[in-house]
Amino acid sequence: MKALTVGLIASFYLVFNVQEQPVVISSQKEYQAVIKQYPEQILQEIVKEIPTIKLDIKYATKDNFSGIAVYHQAKAYARKPVIDALRKIQKELNQQGLGLKIFDAYRPYAVTVKFWKLTPIDKKDYVANPNKGSRHNRGCAVDLTIINLKTGVELKMPTPYDSFTKEAAADYENIPPEEKKNRDFLINMMKQNGFNVIKSEWWHFDFKGWENYPLMDIPFQKL
Ligand SMILES: [Zn+2]
Repeated sequence: MKALTVGLIASFYLVFNVQEQPVVISSQKEYQAVIKQYPEQILQEIVKEIPTIKLDIKYATKDNFSGIAVYHQAKAYARKPVIDALRKIQKELNQQGLGLKIFDAYRPYAVTVKFWKLTPIDKKDYVANPNKGSRHNRGCAVDLTIINLKTGVELKMPTPYDSFTKEAAADYENIPPEEKKNRDFLINMMKQNGFNVIKSEWWHFDFKGWENYPLMDIPFQKL
């Protein structure tokens, strides 16, 4: 009984602990002031900068873990240095008949708050706590995979995107050799260009220096 009570209190704390509000850039005026001072912090639309990159923005559809279309537009934005690095990766992949496909990139902070509320307590490790925000909110994280350029078919990976399972871990060993080879190829290629995979998700990469970019809550249509 005591354990149950402690568990309930802990759950309550996890769900409702939002008193530590982080600093979030949420107006055009603030955003413009930031990029005036730090021009490289501009958020650019990925396909406008790298037209050969494919998009599959799951959060603009109901085909995602939340079951809700949380984006009104199927778009992907990232900070300029992130895009410069992706451009290099895409060039290398293209030479091998391959290319990147992006599931998600910059994510407005309000969506992170929504995800936190929608995610069951036992899966909260897979979503960002709004107290800290997500690196996606900083325009410095990308969720992606590799496709065959000609066919558009994804290389075989250990799990589908946003699979909240142990097999999604970036170092999970007990998987078929082809899937491991493809996953490790992606992780190494990203690493060589300044991105680190996160432990629990083979598809999620943080760009080095992400902590220098503020959290943002400006919707795509206002960028
Ligand atoms: Zn991610």
